[in-house]
Amino acid sequence: MSTIAANLQAVEATITAAAAASARPRSTIQLLAVSKTFPAEAVLEAMAVGQRAFGENYLQEGVEKIADVALAQPSTPVEWHFIGPIQSNKTRPIATSFAWVHTVERLKIAQRLSEQRPPEMGPLNICLQVNVSGEATKSGARPDELRELARQVAQLPNLRLRGLMAIPEPQTDPALQRAAFAKLRQMAEDLRDDGLPIDTLSMGMSGDMEAAIAEGATIVRVGSAIFGNRNYD
Ligand SMILES: *Cc1c(COP(=O)(O)O)cnc(C)c1O
Repeated sequence: MSTIAANLQAVEATITAAAAASARPRSTIQLLAVSKTFPAEAVLEAMAVGQRAFGENYLQEGVEKIADVALAQPSTPVEWHFIGPIQSNKTRPIATSFAWVHTVERLKIAQRLSEQRPPEMGPLNICLQVNVSGEATKSGARPDELRELARQVAQLPNLRLRGLMAIPEPQTDPALQRAAFAKLRQMAEDLRDDGLPIDTLSMGMSGDMEAAIAEGATIVRVGSAIFGNRNYD
């Protein structure tokens, strides 16, 4: 078995155990394999053992990989998620190449994505990124701005607001990991109380996916535990 296949099996076991520990059906949690910095060949290896959803952070790298994978496996449907920082002048390739965007934190970006999404592709699935760690990280909408942002994004025609995403400050203590994820879960519940039909909590990575699942994650974004350590050179 390839390393990637063995790693996927181990991650699957972790997710299954964490789901069982919270009495959640495994089917309520999607594994997003974060393939940034790894070549199309790594994605194809993961696809060979059934993985179908992949996350990319860097636009040009992601768009090229999507094309390479489609060329190599034209008849296998793959779901691509954009999970990196978004520059407002580079929204079009995101709107035309991806099925999901997890990192929307401003209305202006959402408006551009909606305008640039080809309607025949169906709505672009959106998660709003929230800054749950305050000063420690800069990315994400402020919690006090979230309600208004969500209300406005939910009205854009070519987007479908699915839920919330966070990258909390890294913590090794599982209790602290859970506390940050619990905040995001509460914010999602508040939006649901406002009447927004959201169903997604994108939270948890290689180092904290169990805590995220315990707090209700519906998508875990896992990179290094599947593909190995990244080399940014
Ligand atoms: C890189 C990245 C991940 C995966 O991180 P690992 O620790 O390698 O699992 C998940 N989410 C986002 C937004 C990332 O940028």
